[in-house]
Amino acid sequence: MRMLAIAWITWLAAAGLWADIVILKDGTRLEGKIIEKSGDWVKLEITSGGQKAELTIPRKDVKTIREVPIDYSQILPPREYYEKRLKEIGADDAQGHFDLGVFAYEKALYREAAMRFEKAMALDEVFRGRSREYLYKIQIFRERECKEAFERVLAAISGNRILTAKAALENFRAEFTDCELAKDAAVQAKFIAEKFPDVGRTYGADLAAIIKAVEEKAKRVCPDCEGRKSVECSACGGSGDATCNLCEGSKAIDCEDCAGKAEVRCSVCKGYGKTERYEGRKRVRDPCKPCKSTGVVPCEACKKGKVQCTLCRGKGVVRKGCESCSSEGKVACGTCEGSGEREPAEEQEEKGRRKRKFGGPR
Ligand SMILES: [Zn+2]
Ligand SMILES: [Zn+2]
Ligand SMILES: [Zn+2]
Ligand SMILES: [Zn+2]
Ligand SMILES: [Zn+2]
Repeated sequence: MRMLAIAWITWLAAAGLWADIVILKDGTRLEGKIIEKSGDWVKLEITSGGQKAELTIPRKDVKTIREVPIDYSQILPPREYYEKRLKEIGADDAQGHFDLGVFAYEKALYREAAMRFEKAMALDEVFRGRSREYLYKIQIFRERECKEAFERVLAAISGNRILTAKAALENFRAEFTDCELAKDAAVQAKFIAEKFPDVGRTYGADLAAIIKAVEEKAKRVCPDCEGRKSVECSACGGSGDATCNLCEGSKAIDCEDCAGKAEVRCSVCKGYGKTERYEGRKRVRDPCKPCKSTGVVPCEACKKGKVQCTLCRGKGVVRKGCESCSSEGKVACGTCEGSGEREPAEEQEEKGRRKRKFGGPR
């Protein structure tokens, strides 16, 4: 995605600050860059969903072609547009800072938005009222985000995902310095005691102590299972269920009555397509009505030759049937061989050597 965004910018820079709008006679509006023109057609390069495509449009279908300035706020990722625009705004352009603040606010870049509103307010009193309103709302959003980030930390610790917890902690400490939950130890302790009492019991309710414990643990745990000794079973995605092997997960099997053909032999004409009767002593053959002389009628036991799978009863999976993990949903971690601990580097090397020496194809 990022690569594409950069490709876009390079391309825009090369093409200038203008985009071409081609309006067709049927009302279709196409936006892009005209790369070639002739008396009979125009070639337009368009970008949609990150994919570039070339359209060759016959001239006779074109109503008008217009040039419009490119709206970067629509094209660039929000943060990149924010950085770009910030460089363009004059140091004393209060309106400019305010407008960029509104943009950032709408894109949920709350920290950036707050900085712009503060700046606009400081430059010109006119912006004080509206800036304060935004800042008030931002504060509420920030508190909520902060709470969620803290919750992610504690949930990871509670679930014994130490490396995840470490990363979440680092994010929390870097991103949130201004919220109540990040600043006030008493608020933190209350939050932990209320929402994650298990974490409180194991680590205490003091964030500094938790940080230290998590960092210590993170040094020793196996990077693949985070010390949990087991990893999610890849065969069943952790569910413990197995794909039904009768219907192969499709939930349906071939109908036995018609062998999946969706039609059966007509019972009236026995598949012959005609019925017989006698007029006096003369044998007469009539077209068979029920099968319209085709000899077959639709199978009534199934839909399009398929019936619900009898083994999984149409679920596609057999509950708790995964053989790879004995339906546990998890298997012993291969990296640490189930110890949950990170191996010292030299031991790992030694193992690798032994494997190379004695392992290999038999
Ligand atoms: Zn492991
Ligand atoms: Zn499994
Ligand atoms: Zn099945
Ligand atoms: Zn059938
Ligand atoms: Zn028939």
